[in-house]
Amino acid sequence: MAEPVTAQARLDRIVVLIASNMVAEVCSLYVARADGPLELYATEGLNREAVHLTTMMPGEGLVGLIAATAEPLALSDAQNHPAFSYKPETGEEIYQSFLGVPVLRGGATLGVLVVQNRARRTYSEEEIEALQTTAMLLAEMIVSGELQSITGQGAPIAVRRPESLIGQPIAEGLGLGHVVLHQPRVAVAKIVADDISMELDRLEKAIEAMRASVDALIDRSDDGRSGEHREVLEAFRMIAHDRGWLRRLREAVASGLTAEAAVERVQNDARARLQRQTDPYLRDRLHDLTDIANRLLHQLAGQSLVLLPSELPENAILVARSMSPAALLDYDRARLRGVVLEEAGASSHVAIVARALAIPAVSDVPNITEIVEQGDAIIVDGVTGEVQVRPQPDIEAAYSEKARLRARRQDQYRALRDAPSATADGVTIGLHMNAGLLIDMPHLDETGAESIGLFRTELQFMLANSFPRIDAQESIYRAVLDAAGGHVVTFRTLDIGGDKMLPYMKRLDEANPALGWRAIRMGLDRPGLLRTQLRAMLRAAAGRELKVMIPMVSTVAEFLAARALFDKEIAFVKRCGREPPRDIKLGAMVEVPSLLWEIEEIAEAADFLSVGSNDLMQYVFAADRVNKRVAGRFDELSPSFLRALKSIADAGARHRTPVTLCGEMGGRPLSAMALIALGFRNLSMAATAIGPVKAMVVSLDAGAAALELQALLTDPDRHGSLRAPLQALAERLAVRL
Ligand code: PEP
Ligand code: MG
Repeated sequence: MAEPVTAQARLDRIVVLIASNMVAEVCSLYVARADGPLELYATEGLNREAVHLTTMMPGEGLVGLIAATAEPLALSDAQNHPAFSYKPETGEEIYQSFLGVPVLRGGATLGVLVVQNRARRTYSEEEIEALQTTAMLLAEMIVSGELQSITGQGAPIAVRRPESLIGQPIAEGLGLGHVVLHQPRVAVAKIVADDISMELDRLEKAIEAMRASVDALIDRSDDGRSGEHREVLEAFRMIAHDRGWLRRLREAVASGLTAEAAVERVQNDARARLQRQTDPYLRDRLHDLTDIANRLLHQLAGQSLVLLPSELPENAILVARSMSPAALLDYDRARLRGVVLEEAGASSHVAIVARALAIPAVSDVPNITEIVEQGDAIIVDGVTGEVQVRPQPDIEAAYSEKARLRARRQDQYRALRDAPSATADGVTIGLHMNAGLLIDMPHLDETGAESIGLFRTELQFMLANSFPRIDAQESIYRAVLDAAGGHVVTFRTLDIGGDKMLPYMKRLDEANPALGWRAIRMGLDRPGLLRTQLRAMLRAAAGRELKVMIPMVSTVAEFLAARALFDKEIAFVKRCGREPPRDIKLGAMVEVPSLLWEIEEIAEAADFLSVGSNDLMQYVFAADRVNKRVAGRFDELSPSFLRALKSIADAGARHRTPVTLCGEMGGRPLSAMALIALGFRNLSMAATAIGPVKAMVVSLDAGAAALELQALLTDPDRHGSLRAPLQALAERLAVRL
């Protein structure tokens, strides 16, 4: 029986073979270790004793230079190169010529492969190509984990090392599971072609099919049925026809690679080059190029681009460059534990869906699709934005403990579900839920929320492929009311424009979209749109209670104009002999500061008010809510903002007009405490916030908090955010935060 071949023996044989094929005296393989240095793993020609002993840091010597630049280096006089560094144990000073190539995989440098000749010699382009192809083979060996058994100084090799990454949390929660690549890479099984002309033929056919699929995508977006952005698709089309790229692919096949290996090779080179780019435009192009190469590989392998939802394993954590909300909805929720994205995409609709499904999600994790392999262990923390790839056992244990704690806390919140929502001193606080999709509705019952305090109707429009007609709208609203099972639903009319665009609507070129044509401004200028929506709501709520609110109201006159349209629709419904809703209320959102100086009038004109603190913050502080540079600059617990909010609560009380606050701040326990102290008695928030806020409410002495906050707000010597004193107050009053 033949002896089993060890990984070391295999490597030793490979370097001998390469040296002989390249007619070189030396061939050495250096492998990048997880702790940084490149370690000599095998050599033919250099001193064998140096194997697993000699190391180079990236940037050190010629080998380190190749690792750092990810580019081949061919020298006929290596010793005079400024980067040359002498390692006596290898005995290499007698070699004049040097050719080294990076061992690349997915843009990462896994090692360096080197050949050396004693005599001066110029390596040809073909020789460089040939060595790169061999490096690809070695990359597969490294990635497969085969070399782990021969790690020299105990340090694991770099490719499977744990990675601790950080991104933007977009949907809270904690998920532990295994990577499922949303659009999996195709594993290139065969590298060297048997028949070059056949491979060229396969490549040409795949390019044709890939181009046709891109054209089809663009055609679909032309009918307005696709959510993909046209500009992105046009960039795709440009790459799919890029002559330089296609030439490099054909050349790679002509050099002896299979079509798949050629795509991978050309892609590796481009990635290594573009990854060092800091220019965002060029980095975006890299994304496009990766997508196109991926499409081509799927064509060649005859595989579908997307994993079938039924193929999803248990505890799946989806990893994708970006993802449409529809794609996320296609997966089986019961098996999903998290989502990690390189980018969340325009206005982050996928985040909205992830939140509605209660799936922890993190976006803006650079390069994540390259870093992970299918099936890797991964942890997603949707609160801190941390992503742990291939975590060490102690890290995994710490997160498991965190998950258990979370689950215990959720149990405690669940236990509070049926307790009356009242403060310790007996003030009733209405806790309501924000929603926007039918999939949100089950949370109403789970959380014990009193009603849907904000139903963002635009989400349904954003997910649709075209503008929903009246019948479709009516059936959605009816389904929402049915799902609410007798609880009130406050529907907000379309709030589009600004950061919320509909994929099938013409993009407006506005210099300041947040200050532009949006929400009720659009509704009043295009009354057909608004009236259709109001009519659909009136029909859906036949015989039931209907609450509607108008977003982005800037003047009372605007609200009255909206009310006039609504009244016409009510009259129309009655004229048609349809059953009207049992009770109808029309409210105004207070989220544009001008209303603060018309607050008495709006409190009189509207049946109820709802404070949109997200927008009110951005307009009060002139700080764009989606601009990361400024969004976190101002505190919602600043005296100015708290005074503005108080004026709304006070006006509501004076006019006996109910006031709710439905921005994110109502869902943050400390802020919710401040709001109650200011006089707010109804807060509407994300489903996940209801438990923590209720725990705060039942432990709060609202009267004491009101007095203390009043003192803080009237103290002439106090400047800056009240966060710290409010925190201290909460501790003093033993409020559960
Ligand atoms: C708000 O502005 O606070 C709000 C609730 O609405 P949106 O976040 O949808 O603009
Ligand atoms: Mg708003």
